[in-house]
Amino acid sequence: MAHYDAIVLGLGGMGSAALYHLAARGMRVLGLERYDIPNDMGSYHGVNRIIRLAYWEHPAYVPLLHRAYELWRRLELEAGEQVLVITGGLDFGPEDSPTFAGALRSAREYHIQHEVLDGDAVNRRFPGYRLPSDMRALYQPDAGFVMSERAVVAYVDRAMAHGADVRARSAVIGWEPEGAGVRVHTERESFTADRLVVAAGAWAGRVLPELRDLAVPERQVLIWTRPLRPEYFRADRFPVFNMEGPEGRFYGFPEYGIPGFKLGKYHHRGEVTDPDAVDRDIHPEDEEVLREAIRRYFPDADGATLSMKTCMFTNTPDEHFILDRHPRYPQVSIAAGFSGHGFKFCSVVGEIMADLAMDRTPPFDLSLFRIDRFGAGA
Ligand SMILES: Cc1cc2nc3c(=O)[nH]c(=O)nc-3n(C[C@H](O)[C@H](O)[C@H](O)COP(=O)(O)OP(=O)(O)OC[C@H]3O[C@@H](n4cnc5c(N)ncnc54)[C@H](O)[C@@H]3O)c2cc1C
Repeated sequence: MAHYDAIVLGLGGMGSAALYHLAARGMRVLGLERYDIPNDMGSYHGVNRIIRLAYWEHPAYVPLLHRAYELWRRLELEAGEQVLVITGGLDFGPEDSPTFAGALRSAREYHIQHEVLDGDAVNRRFPGYRLPSDMRALYQPDAGFVMSERAVVAYVDRAMAHGADVRARSAVIGWEPEGAGVRVHTERESFTADRLVVAAGAWAGRVLPELRDLAVPERQVLIWTRPLRPEYFRADRFPVFNMEGPEGRFYGFPEYGIPGFKLGKYHHRGEVTDPDAVDRDIHPEDEEVLREAIRRYFPDADGATLSMKTCMFTNTPDEHFILDRHPRYPQVSIAAGFSGHGFKFCSVVGEIMADLAMDRTPPFDLSLFRIDRFGAGA
């Protein structure tokens, strides 16, 4: 039976990056993925994911983001392709909304370049937007998006170039501690390793039952619509955005990669799901939830539907990540519960997971992400 220094379980956003960092450091490493590379079954498909530096969710993310940008650029150099596209970004809502006020707090605390604009100023400068005058927006020039599917492909490809073994269509169906290491089973084979990195996305609670209530899958839906004024929705004229309004919280992108203006709603219709039985069909109600925001805030994008996709968030109770060692088995490290905002961090989370698997202390304050914040023995 093959023995590895480390096995990475799940080769999506986080696992592909962890595999790369481990392999690049000379570790003998195996990556196991239940579907294909890439696939559209988990949380990273649909072309791209927003990245931004002023982080309304919590300022503690900013040091990780600086490193994430650096590592995305390093991946581009190594892979010879563009992974990061900078468009600028807007975080807007009422003046006291967490989206605007939190982004401003984070920008001030970390001296991040930004401007504060009211709704009219946004509309003049970026004519694809139609915001009410009293909305407040933080504009950050460093925001943009990561080409998420390409990034997963690039990380797996580079990991293999550094010597990683990879098996797709190899679902892990069980694992157990074995001495100070682990034994991991797929349907066809078993492997042993000194360390296990669990990066199973929406299936985290399947692999580690203790995560069942801490990393909860939720169905999401994305739409791409045909702009009526395509010139307003090009990447050089339309910054990515996060918005908060009476209808909920939405995010969106300029046209890129596939045709259409892309928009999604955080927590879409609040549908907690089973990752193996998620409803992947699209229903009229799914479109209506998204069209409501397009009609109101982006009327020049309210053309025909060009694409719609389902996807999954994996939410923790406080919507902060879990980046930690397993409470009982220190040979197992966990990257889970990315709560719909994780992709931008994959590059740095991969590096953190490689540190944990190699008994190095990551150079970040990770206390926000400890698993024991949810209670002893969690
Ligand atoms: C609609 C949508 C929009 C989003 N927008 C943004 C955004 O703009 N910005 C942002 O930063 N983040 C965003 N996110 C969140 C981000 O995409 C996720 O946080 C990120 O992909 C999580 O990475 P992961 O590695 O945990 O999961 P995934 O990327 O889903 O990877 C998990 C992998 O593990 C595999 N796996 C699972 N179980 C097993 C098993 N037993 N054996 C082998 N393999 C297994 C899966 O097949 C999958 O490939 C969005 C998510 C969604 C759904």
